[in-house]
Amino acid sequence: MPELNNIIHEYLKVVANMKEYVAEQLELGFLESTAPFGKMTMEELRAEAIACTRCELHKTRQNVVFGEGDENADLVFIGEAPGSEEDQQGRPFVGTAGQLLTKIIEAMKFTREEVYIANVLKCRPPNNRDPSPNEINHCKPFLTRQLGIIKPKVICALGAHAAHALINSNEGITRMRGRFYLYNGIKVMPTFHPAYLLRNESAKRPVWTDAQKIMAELGKL
Ligand code: SF4
Repeated sequence: MPELNNIIHEYLKVVANMKEYVAEQLELGFLESTAPFGKMTMEELRAEAIACTRCELHKTRQNVVFGEGDENADLVFIGEAPGSEEDQQGRPFVGTAGQLLTKIIEAMKFTREEVYIANVLKCRPPNNRDPSPNEINHCKPFLTRQLGIIKPKVICALGAHAAHALINSNEGITRMRGRFYLYNGIKVMPTFHPAYLLRNESAKRPVWTDAQKIMAELGKL
């Protein structure tokens, strides 16, 4: 009988968690859509992001930086948030760090058009400050649904904020990088953000090591 009580207790906990999840999704507005979860097209999702006012960042953005690339890509790069240049152009990774990312992508025998590039936050935090947990909570469902549409084989998480948004860990990026984790069954390789590489020449070698592990996983080596 104590075993039965335990099972009932666990069942009630699961139901309570599900109710909490649904309430959160309703609050975020993601259960208002008529399209079933994961069935929206990328363009419908982009339109939803462009109109989004779910966090304070909508007040200061010039453009929503939704993401771009091949919607059927095997490889997705995720950064933390748009910077100034990205905010102005409405495209991810187009500043100096973005140019470095493009070089890394090409060294990996891909083109920018063959991969998908996005950020956890779709709007720029003022003065490039770190994303707040509240902003990440509000914006992450967009990323979740982007990844649900793309279904990549590998995600490269650029920097600690991107890695923490996908992987349940509080470790620093130096400790996390270099090995694969799983996000919804997709392999995730955390590595240093290209902006960090611009300031730390010595980080280029470990990033290339991580890139080669991704290439091996995707049959590019
Ligand atoms: S950062 Fe994300 S949640 Fe916040 S307003 Fe922009 S799209 Fe909406």
